[in-house]
Amino acid sequence: MECEICGREIRGRGFKIIVEGSEMTVCEHCKDYGVEKPNVPQKKVLISRPISKPKVSTTIDLGDELVENFHIIIRREREKRGWSQEDLAKRIKEKVSLIRKIENAEITPEPEVIEKLERVFDIKLRERVEEVKVEKKRIDLTPTLGDIVVIKRKKKS
Ligand SMILES: [Zn+2]
Repeated sequence: MECEICGREIRGRGFKIIVEGSEMTVCEHCKDYGVEKPNVPQKKVLISRPISKPKVSTTIDLGDELVENFHIIIRREREKRGWSQEDLAKRIKEKVSLIRKIENAEITPEPEVIEKLERVFDIKLRERVEEVKVEKKRIDLTPTLGDIVVIKRKKKS
C-alpha cells in the first residue's frame, strides 16, 4: 500500500485522514496534512419499518356442490308426485338401479344425472360452495437490504 500523498510505501498500518473532505490513506509522515479519521466503526442501524401489507382475502370458488341430503330430497320429490322409482328412471332416462342407489345414498350421482333430476323436479340439488381464505398479516423480522442503513459519522472539527 502506498501513501496517497507522498507515494511512499506505507510500513505497518497506514493512517486514515480526512483531507478537504476526502478520505486518504497515508504514511505516518503525511498524517499531519489532514485530520485523522476518528476510529468510529460504521454503525449498522436496523430500522424497523412497519410493514403495511393489506389483508389479503382470497375467495376460492369450489363450484357447485351437491347438497348433503340430496337423496332425501329426491325421494321426497318423487313420492310427492306419486312416481315410483321406475317412473322417475324413465323420465330421466336412467336405470332404476341408479335411482335406487341415489335414494339410498349409495352413490353420488353424476353431474348430468343431477341436472336431469333438478330439471324433472324443478329443484336445486346443488349449492354454491366458496372457501374464504384470509391471509394473516405477515410480520417479517428478517431485514431486507433496504432496511439496513449505514450511517457514517464524521468528526466535526
Ligand atoms: Zn506520505
